[in-house]
Formats: sequence, structure tokens, C-alpha cells
Amino acid sequence: MILTDTHTHLYSEAFDEDQDAMMQRALDAGVDRFFVPAIDSAYTEAMYSLQSKYPKHVFLMMGLHPTHVKENYLEELSHVKEQLAMSKFYAIGEIGIDLYWDRTFLKQQQDVFVTQIQLAKRYGLPIVIHCREAFDEVFEILQQEKGPGLRGIFHCFTGDKTQAVKAIHYGMKLGIGGVATFKNGKIDQFLKEIDLEHIVLETDAPYLAPVPYRGKRNESSYIIKVLEKLATIYGLDQKTIAHATTQNSKVVFGI
Ligand SMILES: [Zn+2]
Repeated sequence: MILTDTHTHLYSEAFDEDQDAMMQRALDAGVDRFFVPAIDSAYTEAMYSLQSKYPKHVFLMMGLHPTHVKENYLEELSHVKEQLAMSKFYAIGEIGIDLYWDRTFLKQQQDVFVTQIQLAKRYGLPIVIHCREAFDEVFEILQQEKGPGLRGIFHCFTGDKTQAVKAIHYGMKLGIGGVATFKNGKIDQFLKEIDLEHIVLETDAPYLAPVPYRGKRNESSYIIKVLEKLATIYGLDQKTIAHATTQNSKVVFGI
């Protein structure tokens, strides 16, 4: 059984004490492929060092996270462009719009999102979308940018069925993680109506740990809990879900 964690911040400070042990637990659990989203330039070095330690397992993305779009966003965008020109990445992410914490930089978040989608198209890469309290704003931009060059993952999907169908229509897979195991998570209520070919697994470690670890530090090995939940929702065995979602991740990332 090969599992793919399509969204995990393995380089996070939260793993400073036990990164190798944490990686080993995930590898032992069958997680063989780790797709690692960027946040901003402060983490780039840590991402590269992780990749050089686990070159067969770790696949990096490059991008500017919407909650890190601040006064210096143009410098950060230049950094993204420089890195893309220098190294191989597997997606532009995570990118998008987040209006949960702060609306001050909405306009800049929109501009940065569009610019990064266009970079993804230029490099033939998928995008990994972060969307919080911003479905309308994100869909507005996807509508404007849609087309054969646009594909990716709607990370930590928390919308309703209509929004799920819309995201898929724009070429996105739905990233399903710990929230699917929460009692009030809601997506478990309609997920079985969405064809499995549109689903990928993720943890978003160190955030959003699944039940029974909810509220604690998340790590990639806990993806098993998400796998168990999806097996229940779809009425399929875990092997089938693992195989299908890894296959879907290959379609997105091209590897
Ligand atoms: Zn993330």
C-alpha cells in the first residue's frame, strides 16, 4: 500500500526536535510520497535541506502563501520566480486567498494569486490552492484563468457539494485531510457523491490533526486516520482508497 501525502509542511519548526523520527513513522505507515507546499522565502532553505535528505520521497512546491502576502509581497514574488528558474518544483503552492485572519491585503492577495497561476501555466505546473472564507473570491479568479493549462488541488477542501463540483469543474482535485474526521466537518455528508477520481489525501501537518489526535501536532503518519475515514465513507477497503488517491496524485503532479 503506497500512500501519498499531497500537503505536508515537513520542514515546520514543529518538527525541529524529531524530524527524522517523524519521517520514519510516516514511511513505516506506508506514506511513500510527500508533497511539500511553500509558505514564504523564510522556509526555502529548510525545504531544500529536507529534499536533499529524502530525495526519493520529498517533492517540493514553490509559492507565496496568502496569509504571508504583506507589504513586501513584490520581493516575495521575485523570490518565487527566482526559485522556479533555478530548481525543479512539482507545483505552485500553496497559493490562494485567506480572509479569515485579515482582509487588509485582499487586493494584493488577488493579484499575487493571479500572478502565481500564470507562473504555473508558464511552467506547466499544477497549483495547490489555500482558500479560507474566500470561496467567491477564489472562484472568481479560477473562472477568469480556467482552461486546459489549469489543474491542481483544492487543499483542505471544506466547502459544500456545489462548491466541490465547481472546484472539480475548474480542473481541481479535492484535498481531503483531518477535517473529514471531525464531527462537525460536514464534508463526510456528501463526499460519497463525489467520484473517487477527484480525491487526494493530505495531512497539512503540523496543522489540523485528525481525530483522535485533534488539537495536537499533526504528522504525516496520521494520514492513516483520513484513509480509514474515506474507506468508511466510500464503503471500499483501505487498499483501494490508497491506490486510487495515489494514482490521482500522479495525475496532478505528473510523478
Ligand atoms: Zn498548508
